[in-house]
Amino acid sequence: MDTFAHRRGLLITIDGPAGAGKSTTARALASRLGYAYLDTGALYRAVAWVVRRADIDCADVEAMKTLLSSTDFHVSLDEGVTRTFIDDEEITGYLRSPGISRLASAVAALPYVRDRLLPIQARYSRDGGIVAEGRDMGTRVFPEADVKFFLEADLDTRTSRRHQETVRDGHPETQRDVRLAIEERDTNDRSRETAPLKPAADAVVIDSSSLTVEQVVERMLAWIPGHS
Ligand code: C5P
Repeated sequence: MDTFAHRRGLLITIDGPAGAGKSTTARALASRLGYAYLDTGALYRAVAWVVRRADIDCADVEAMKTLLSSTDFHVSLDEGVTRTFIDDEEITGYLRSPGISRLASAVAALPYVRDRLLPIQARYSRDGGIVAEGRDMGTRVFPEADVKFFLEADLDTRTSRRHQETVRDGHPETQRDVRLAIEERDTNDRSRETAPLKPAADAVVIDSSSLTVEQVVERMLAWIPGHS
């Protein structure tokens, strides 16, 4: 039986491909609801970062498992910038580069990486009152979520949004490179065997191509009990 009466709020998930506007929307929705925001991509980026620092080949399963089991990963649940830590070291500023994006997508296809991060992510949802964003929130990490969204947008829109982000984050890339990187990450994320990117059967699918952040948030609110 759901213990909703004892929870601080609902558990809401947002999944979707790169550049669909998940982070911005999830933050805005969390802010409207007074909820915490969980950016699970930051955890995969943190894994990529430690793998690169340790100079380990992703294909070396034993070395990867040893590294992962001896490292603690966590993120802050702030509405604003998500702060990311490995053990007690903050690595927030190092995670948005194209190289880390690519490596994050590669390590995210490894089942033991996903298994390592699963309980870490699950812990954050204990009391509800959270908007969790990623690729497998509704399908694998939080199948019991109260409301699930899958946010899509066409490739042109996603390319131009990601391009603006690369400029904002201080890693400017050409539109063409951004487009290729998005396509590569999408193919990885959708085709991997473990927890591939796809809408949960009970997810509300929203195409954000021609919508503003506010419009997407309004559509989402219409599905959230007590907020329509
Ligand atoms: O969302 P973000 O772009 O920061 O995620 C980086 C990568 O981490 C994605 O390309 C995806 O491969 C992986 N990821 C994942 N599952 C999640 C969140 C992110 O596989 N829940």
